[in-house]
Amino acid sequence: MNIKKNYMNIEIKNRLIIISSPSGAGKTTLCKLLLKKMKNISLSISYTSRNKRLNEINGKDYFFVTKEKFINLEKKNFFIETAKNFNNFYGSPYKNIIMSNKNHQHLLFDIDWKGARKIRKNYSKDKIIDFFILPPSKSELKKRLIKRGRDNSREINLRLSYAMNEMKHYNEYKYVLINENVHQTVNDIIKIIDYYNSIDKNNKILSKKLKRIIYS
Ligand code: 5GP
Repeated sequence: MNIKKNYMNIEIKNRLIIISSPSGAGKTTLCKLLLKKMKNISLSISYTSRNKRLNEINGKDYFFVTKEKFINLEKKNFFIETAKNFNNFYGSPYKNIIMSNKNHQHLLFDIDWKGARKIRKNYSKDKIIDFFILPPSKSELKKRLIKRGRDNSREINLRLSYAMNEMKHYNEYKYVLINENVHQTVNDIIKIIDYYNSIDKNNKILSKKLKRIIYS
């Protein structure tokens, strides 16, 4: 079955919120805090072929699948977008949009610039709020990658060089924030999303009023 055929024309009822940043810039903590503080947002849980880390839970952090399974799903157009990072596949499934529509929530994507580009290409600009999060400095980024203790030194160097490349794409995003303090950064993000919430609310009220004025 070609899943995409059924999913491609889905109306996006709320906003698609994209947060991208290089590994180690604090994105995971930031997304967790944001989800805790804003009840009208749900996380788009991605599929990945990378190995599960010790602290991760299947179905909560990612859906962990084999490379073969991932490729199979991709062939069936299961994903809105996919990307290959550090020799592993990552993808955002269409079904997350359906869920967020059903729950009247914005959908939060913790994805890289390649995925963000694909989402911008496929969906209306009016529906997207995209953020790029930068670390305060390169040395701070390296420090954070080491402090996480998740990766070996080969992986840390790979992630650092990948991060330097990733950061070059900051100017494709509407909002660029430097994450000096995660609480401050989350509050800044919330203020921006609240601004869009108020626009959406006003537009709904306005469209009701317009209908009444014009058609009643
Ligand atoms: P990690 O392996 O550290 O969890 O993620 C590595 C990178 O892949 C991060 O930049 C993360 O945002 C990105 N990523 C995670 N899920 C997806 C996805 O579904 N699509 C894309 N394009 N990137 C993703």
